[in-house]
Parts: sequence; structure tokens; C-alpha cells
Amino acid sequence: MFQDLRDTLHEFQRTHRFGRGISAVQIGEPKRLIYIELEGRAYRLRNPVYEWESEEKFVLWDDCFSFPGLLVRLQRSVAVRIRFANEAGEVEILEARDAFSELLQHEIDHLDGILAVDRALDGNSLCTREEYERRYRGTKAMGSAKGLAVPEVLG
Ligand SMILES: [Zn+2]
Repeated sequence: MFQDLRDTLHEFQRTHRFGRGISAVQIGEPKRLIYIELEGRAYRLRNPVYEWESEEKFVLWDDCFSFPGLLVRLQRSVAVRIRFANEAGEVEILEARDAFSELLQHEIDHLDGILAVDRALDGNSLCTREEYERRYRGTKAMGSAKGLAVPEVLG
């Protein structure tokens, strides 16, 4: 199952140039599994649950595998602590901040049937990818060679 998730994520990354996480429900499997690739590491999480979510929140433009052309402005906890089972079935605890934290929240939402669009902050919180790049990319280009990476936007 994790192999399917990994293959699907890689195929998506090839065609869309973004995407760092995927949940089983996104490939039609009603299982509480998440596969994430971030900063050179792969994470395979089974039955993740929150042990703790920070009161401190931040606002970001989020994107999603399931609607690649759309960005959504929403709010996430800055830090989370997650309990999950690893591939061997052992319980592990994971603490994450910032980009990793919001990615975990995004993927756990999928397991609960919640999409980023359900969390849009207000009527101005939806934006097509083209519009987003026109409006916001220039403001944070700051000499980035690739121009592709927009750190607060994750799949
Ligand atoms: Zn998603």
C-alpha cells in the first residue's frame, strides 16, 4: 500500500511539479495511511492521531493533489505532536513544526474527509495557481534560482 502511495506521489510530482504528501483515501483506499516525502526523508504513517496541537497558528496558501489548479488560504497550527504506528506496527511519536506541521495537518484532514477548501478563511481565500503566481510570486522571488519553490505552499 505504501508502495502505491509512493508511486502515485512520484507520478504526480513528475507531471505537476509539486506534492510532498499523499493519503490512502486520495487513491480510493479507505485506510488511515499517509506517505510523506520532505527534505530527503520518507515518512510512512499508519493511524496517525494528534497528541497535541499548538495554540499558535499561522496562515498560509495551501495546495492539494486533489485539486492541483487551486490554492486555498487557511490556518494551521504552527506545531503538532502526532502518534502513529510505523511499518513494523510499533507506536512512534513525531513532533513537527512549520512546513512539516502543516503538511501533517493537511494529510490527516484527508483521512477525516476534510479538504483544504473546507478550511478556506473567507471569500478571498481561493485562488487559481496562475493567479497566485501572478499576484504573489514576484513578492517573494528574492533571487531564487528556480523560482518554483514557494515554501508555505505544500501538497
Ligand atoms: Zn491534499
